Amino acid sequence: MNIILLGPPGAGKGTQARHLVETRGMVQLSTGDMLRDAKASGSDMGKKVSAIMEAGQLVTDEIVIGLIEERLNAEQGAGFIFDGFPRTLAQADALAALLAKLGQSLHTVIEMRVDDEALVARITGRFTCGSCGEVYHDKTKPTAVEGTCDNCGSTELKRRADDNENSLRTRLMEYYKKTSPLIGYYYAKGDLRPVNGLAEIDEVKASIGAILG
Ligand code: AMP
Repeated sequence: MNIILLGPPGAGKGTQARHLVETRGMVQLSTGDMLRDAKASGSDMGKKVSAIMEAGQLVTDEIVIGLIEERLNAEQGAGFIFDGFPRTLAQADALAALLAKLGQSLHTVIEMRVDDEALVARITGRFTCGSCGEVYHDKTKPTAVEGTCDNCGSTELKRRADDNENSLRTRLMEYYKKTSPLIGYYYAKGDLRPVNGLAEIDEVKASIGAILG
């Protein structure tokens, strides 16, 4: 079963993807994580995308489609969760073609609905564990001991360079201009299932669980 988590930055895609990995053995394919890894490794591609990402703009379709193709060919599990991909209609078409090549298809597109004010509040307080990936928030989900991950005990907590109000405004604009047309695209294909991304995390988990069966 292959699914897409679709929604603006801060909608909770990463948190839900991690839960599906833990409970169902699915494979999370986050192009944002892949690009941040490339940046951290200092590769040529990482250097090329660094400033674009920090500004909150989209990197080229060619780069992200290439990253997804590589991982689709290398990974196996109980289905793929596409997190932050596709973000343009060209990426959506490319994904359909890549899956078809593997004899696979898309099961469902979960649209995580949230409002913009909530996104600003969520994103500007967000930090994650660099070791296990657990997501925290200054106000709504602080760590029990300051500076230490509740989940794995690591002290490697970090904030994303693009989680600030300026980048977020650009990321939202990119979302509305380039990514939101995918809602109509997948609706027309009959694949779209909306969930309320503003509900409590456990409620969102339950809604997605009910959709996936
Ligand atoms: P994310 O972690 O999904 O919020 O992505 C962080 C940043 O990586 C985005 O703001 C873009 O600059 C870039 N990015 C991630 N996924 C894509 C994609 N599918 N297409 C274009 N740019 C992307």
